[in-house]
Amino acid sequence: MKPAAPGTRKLRLATTSLAGCFGCHMSFLDIDTRLLDLLEHVELDCSPLTDIKVPHPDCDIGLIEGAVCNAENVHVLRTFRARCKLLLAVGACAVTGGLPAQRNQLALPILLETVYHTAPGLVNGRIPNDPELPLLLDRVYPLHEVVHIDYWIPGCPPSADTLWAVLSDLLAGRTPRLAAGQVQYD
Ligand code: SF4
Repeated sequence: MKPAAPGTRKLRLATTSLAGCFGCHMSFLDIDTRLLDLLEHVELDCSPLTDIKVPHPDCDIGLIEGAVCNAENVHVLRTFRARCKLLLAVGACAVTGGLPAQRNQLALPILLETVYHTAPGLVNGRIPNDPELPLLLDRVYPLHEVVHIDYWIPGCPPSADTLWAVLSDLLAGRTPRLAAGQVQYD
């Protein structure tokens, strides 16, 4: 990545995790010392890596890990879409629903009944219904079924080199193109 020209505006980068495990964020951190290069070009906005809770209204790039499983996920995702010029689905959960979408095999009422009423150790349990809890959706959705997505980065998680390649292309104003070895689906 070339050094930023003096006076060049840094791009605003926001990240979030919906129904994900933060493994994709760990992969992002695994770009390691290249993070220093990246921070020459970008200002890290709303992210689990900062204490900024809501994306700036004029973000350039949004990286989203995790699928959409509840009403809060929908709200966060729509906010990112409204505030980021480019939105990237990062990782298998964001791209296809991934592991969280395994619950799609069962209808939601049956799933809740199974988990809270009949699972070993939870017989006679109660299905949580506190109003503070985000409402579960009928099933788990990949991001592109809820909002427009500009780019998809598969992998569980995508490697640090893959994330670096995509970010390098975007910062250079190129359409990201991954080499065959950088596209993984496991
Ligand atoms: Fe975690 Fe894999 Fe989903 Fe990323 S794609 S959030 S690493 S389960």
